Amino acid sequence: MTTARKYVLETLFQGTPKKSDLKIVEETLPAIKDGEFLAEAVWLSVDPYMRTLVNSSNIGNTMIGEQVAKIIESKNDDFKVGDYIAANFGWRTKTISNGDQVRKLDRSVYTDDKLSTAFGIMGMTGATAYLAFLDICVPKEGETLVITGAAGAVGSAVGQIAKIKGCRVVGFAGSDEKVEYLKGLGFDEAINYKTMTSLKEALDKACPKGIDMFFDNVGGEFYDTIIPQMNNSGRVVIVGYMSQYNSEKPDQGPRLNPSILAKELTIRGFFIYNWLPRWPEAFKAIGEWIDKGQLKYTESITEGFDNMFDAFAGLFTGKHIGKAAVKA
Ligand code: NAP
Repeated sequence: MTTARKYVLETLFQGTPKKSDLKIVEETLPAIKDGEFLAEAVWLSVDPYMRTLVNSSNIGNTMIGEQVAKIIESKNDDFKVGDYIAANFGWRTKTISNGDQVRKLDRSVYTDDKLSTAFGIMGMTGATAYLAFLDICVPKEGETLVITGAAGAVGSAVGQIAKIKGCRVVGFAGSDEKVEYLKGLGFDEAINYKTMTSLKEALDKACPKGIDMFFDNVGGEFYDTIIPQMNNSGRVVIVGYMSQYNSEKPDQGPRLNPSILAKELTIRGFFIYNWLPRWPEAFKAIGEWIDKGQLKYTESITEGFDNMFDAFAGLFTGKHIGKAAVKA
């Protein structure tokens, strides 16, 4: 028998998540049975989607999320002691699994220093950047792309992929430090949206040839302002809507159909777990770009399972640059 620690929902999130919405409890795990293994979390992911998806869960359930874990006991021939895996086990230290929906990590790719990338640039967020941008924005050389939430895990990768494809890239982020970070990654323009005076003026200046593609992580005022400024036949991918995740009341925006119709815009939502068969293609390309030095990634690391909530809350205050990860 072994003891696991896990975060359970005390109350559903309302508005900005509070530490008291979650509680750490201990759980005694039974001995593993034939076909099962016991895995111990090494790295845990915090992601914005947890804010929205968890509210369709029930009070008392384990907080959702992906982790990288090491197998410490096994009665399953496909998962040996010492193997590393990525799985949606939630916010918990130890888990018994039969291997269903578990991704065994290839240690020639996910070396000791790259284990946490299995839920970052070489995991869910990297696959989102690659597939949502390339498949839905369909970039052409010389076109202009605007990215919101540009210094985050997804946005920072999208901008670099767009540069590789020969595009002009304009990113919005919430601090001067993030603006410098984006310029260092090769973004043509990076704008601190918290200190700019007018979004429309900032766009006019940064996008002299208009906007061909819009990768939206934030929604709200950005979406309302950018859509009417798109060029004809522009492509928009809606990946997230950070500005509304903590809203307590539904947001009302302007009616944008006249712009969408007249400019024949393509606007499409994207949900990465519907694209699972194409993840290997994304990882192959991203891995090659990283190896060639064309794509860089940053992780904001929080130490300690007990500090997971703080890392999670930081997603909504703009605390992190790149992918937020927790070292167990
Ligand atoms: P992230 O960008 O690393 O972290 C969130 C960032 O959002 C924060 O650092 C903050 O940066 C910004 N932000 C927070 N509140 C904001 C607000 N009210 N207004 C404007 N910006 C705000 O997160 P990520 O993992 O890369 O995800 C980015 C987006 O993609 C999220 O919306 C996420 O839900 C979505 N996503 C969707 C899929 C999918 O399949 N659809 C998959 C992965 C991610 P600033 O300092 O710049 O404000």
